[in-house]
Amino acid sequence: MAKRVPLEILDLTDQRYSCHGCGDCCRDFSVQLRDEDLERLEAQGWAEERGEPVTVEFRGRRYLRQRADGGCLFLQEDGLCTIHARYGFHEKPVACRLFPFNLAPDSGGTRAGLNFACQSVRANRGSTLESHRDDLRRALREVPESVAVAPPLLAGDLRAEPAEVDALTTGLDRWLGRAEVPLTIRLDGFAWLAQGIGAASFSEVRGERITELIGLLVSALPDELLHLPVDPPGRGQRKQLRQAVFARIEDPRFTDDESRPTFGAKLDQWRRSRRFARGRGEIPGLARGWAVPAGFDSVAALPKVPGTEPISDLVVRWLRSTIRGGRAWGSGYYGWSIADGVQALALNLACVGWLARAHAAGVGEAAVTLDSVGEALGRIDRASGRAVWLGSMGERLRLRYLATDDGLRRLVRSNW
Ligand code: SF4
Repeated sequence: MAKRVPLEILDLTDQRYSCHGCGDCCRDFSVQLRDEDLERLEAQGWAEERGEPVTVEFRGRRYLRQRADGGCLFLQEDGLCTIHARYGFHEKPVACRLFPFNLAPDSGGTRAGLNFACQSVRANRGSTLESHRDDLRRALREVPESVAVAPPLLAGDLRAEPAEVDALTTGLDRWLGRAEVPLTIRLDGFAWLAQGIGAASFSEVRGERITELIGLLVSALPDELLHLPVDPPGRGQRKQLRQAVFARIEDPRFTDDESRPTFGAKLDQWRRSRRFARGRGEIPGLARGWAVPAGFDSVAALPKVPGTEPISDLVVRWLRSTIRGGRAWGSGYYGWSIADGVQALALNLACVGWLARAHAAGVGEAAVTLDSVGEALGRIDRASGRAVWLGSMGERLRLRYLATDDGLRRLVRSNW
C-alpha cells in the first residue's frame, strides 16, 4: 500500500480562500504539464477536435498553449474552463487543480503554501484552508516528487535540522506577527533579519544556538533599528531593484513553439531590459494585461507605500504565509538555502513596494492604494518559485551585491 504522506496545510487561522471564478489564473499563468497531464489531454482528443496542437514546448518542458492575448486555449468566454465543463475538475492538468496552492516537500511531509497572485487569496475570501485538504491530497497523489525530502540547506551546503528550520521560521513569523509594531518598522526589521541570517556563520552556530541567535535578533527589535539608521539606496542598488522587478514581471508567451524565440522578440526584450536598467523615460510594457504608462521619475516622486491597516494586513499575511507555507526556501524556492531564500523574500518585498508605486503613478493616484499593492503583489508572487530564471546564478549574484552595504534594508525602507 502506498505510504500516506503528511500534508501540512498552512496554519494561518486568519487566511481563507475559495475560487470565485475570476479566471485570472487561466488568463495569466503558463501551465506546465506533467506526463499524466499530456496523457489525459491526448485521451480527451483535443488536438484532433481543434485541428491544432494544444501544447507547446519551451526550454525542454511542455506547456498548455496560450491564445494571442495570453489566456489559456481552454478558457471560455464565460471565464470557465472547457476541460472542467466537459470532464470535471479532476480531469484538468494538475497545476490547474492545485492553484493557488503550492506543494513544497520537506523532511516532515509536504507543505501546502499559497500563491498571492490569486485575488481571492489576497482579498482573504472564502472557506478555511483546511477545507481544501481532500482536493489537495488527491492532487498530491499525482505529484510523487512532492513527498518528504531532506530539510532545506541552512546556508552554502550545510543541511538544516528540522528543529533549526522550525526555530528560524518561528522567529521570523513571531516578528512579522507583532501587530502593535507599525508596518514600516516591521518590514525594515524583516529586511534586517534577512541580512542577519544571510551573514550568520552557520558552520559555527548550530542546533540550540540557532534558536538563541534568532531569539536574540528578534528580541533586539525594534529598538535596534533606531541605532542602525540606513541611508537611501545608492544608484547601483536602485538599478538592481529595477532590474529585479523586470526579471519578475517578464513572462514568455506560449502561443506557439517558442523553444527558439525569434530574433525580434529577443531584441524587444533586450530593449526593455536596458530601459529598466537606465531608469529613465517611460516604464516599458510593465506586464501583460497591466499597461501602466508611468515614467520612472513619477515612481520616484510618489510617497512610500503607506502602512494603512488593510495594506498591512495583506503584506504581512503574504510574508507569513510564504515563510510558513514553505515557499521561501528549499523545495518551494529553487532548492535555495534558508539564508539565500529569506534574502530573496526581502528583495521581493522591495520589488512589490516599487511596483505598487509604479501602478499607483500609472493610474494617477497621489498615494499608493490597497488596490495598487494588491496588483503589484500579485505580479511579483506569481513568478516566485516558478520562473526558472529567478533561481539562477544571476539572481544569487544580485543578492550578494545587495547583501553588502545594507542594500536590502535600504531598498525596503525606500519603498515602504
Ligand atoms: S486548462 Fe482550464 S483551468 Fe487550466 S488554465 Fe486552462 S482554462 Fe484554466
